[in-house]
Amino acid sequence: MRHVTILGATGSIGLNTLDVIRRHPDRFRVYGLAANIRVEEMAELCREFRPQRAVMADADAAETLAQRLSDLPEITVLQGEVGLCEVAAAESVDTVMAAIVGAAGLPPTLAAVRAGKRVLLANKEALVMSGQLFMDAVTASGAELLPIDSEHNAIFQCMPADRVRDPRGAGITRILLTASGGPFRSHSNEDLKTVSPAQACAHPNWAMGQKISVDSATLMNKGLELIEACWLFNTDPSRIEVHVHPESIIHSMVEYADGSVLAQLGSPDMRTPIANGLAWPERIDAGVAPLDLFAIGRFHFERPDLHRFPCLRLAAEAFHAGGTAPAVLNAANEEAVAAFLAGDLGFTDIPVIIERTLAATEVVAGSSFEIIFAKDAEARRFAREQIERLAV
Ligand code: NAD
Ligand code: MG
Repeated sequence: MRHVTILGATGSIGLNTLDVIRRHPDRFRVYGLAANIRVEEMAELCREFRPQRAVMADADAAETLAQRLSDLPEITVLQGEVGLCEVAAAESVDTVMAAIVGAAGLPPTLAAVRAGKRVLLANKEALVMSGQLFMDAVTASGAELLPIDSEHNAIFQCMPADRVRDPRGAGITRILLTASGGPFRSHSNEDLKTVSPAQACAHPNWAMGQKISVDSATLMNKGLELIEACWLFNTDPSRIEVHVHPESIIHSMVEYADGSVLAQLGSPDMRTPIANGLAWPERIDAGVAPLDLFAIGRFHFERPDLHRFPCLRLAAEAFHAGGTAPAVLNAANEEAVAAFLAGDLGFTDIPVIIERTLAATEVVAGSSFEIIFAKDAEARRFAREQIERLAV
């Protein structure tokens, strides 16, 4: 029996995780559920899964949740970052799904890592921000880090399990990272200027949260994933090639020295990588429909267009700049995406804000989590100023 905490329980990944858990009451028990402000959804999940702890990041939301659950005294309601870290590191938990969106997920994900848990990593921003420090913490505690991002889970499945951090030793020559291309794959530069948040969130293949949907539309998601892959698989961008594959059936590939290319295929359904991580190294039913290749018929591949989608280039540059640069990239992107979703920034201004913020923020090399959080705050302030200027 695995005892699981889900950070980001009310989100797209959180709900998919609970769907897999619901199918296997003999294998998984929910210890903790955590979310930000959505009290009604959280109360419902608590009634169904009966965790020992429920956390709302927002203090008012926590108070309301405690009232809603007053007839269930066995559930303790906690609040804030302290509560998030507590359910992530609690002694009776062995598995933590890290599925909070954005930088807010770093402290509790790190708490799970430091406590040596099996950490199922969906929250790619946490790893992008803190790269080396995060991986050092994994090594120090002996935490079991399993990738949930579909591409990274695919790559993980195509590697020998004991050589994940030593791709060269395993005879791996390249990682072929696939990308759907997002909803605007065929848009002209001119058309991109006027796309709306609703259009950006209507992903052709995946149903996801708003932030990652916009990231998929700008290709920043692939940029973050490029950095994520470098850290997870101990490699660099010169050994990773992005392949736009609009069908989203091949979730990524690994090329070996003998010419073999191994791929992982499946329907675009996050329950597959989630079930893989929850049960690893075993395989369990994820509730996913079997793949029908006859219905799909053909696969297509194209190179990403870095001219129309500069975010992918910006991410590679930030990785090469090293130190705090990826944290700045991530912070500026989070601010720009939030402004775009609020109707305060044009779609093509997202990379403009990120590029300006990267250019204006000094890179600190040897780093600590304190420096990372300080740079994150500095980048957000600068990005918000720039967003206001562009909005005028
Ligand atoms: P979502 O917006 O649907 O859900 C986000 C969750 O995070 C919610 O439960 C919300 O309550 C919680 N949250 C937000 N801000 C918080 C805060 N400050 N403190 C505590 N909790 C907070 O997002 P999602 O699509 O589920 O994505 C979650 C993460 O997984 C992201 O990092 C995303 O990049 C990654 N991911 C998602 C998918 C997908 O298919 N949705 C695929 C790969 C990776
Ligand atoms: Mg992905």
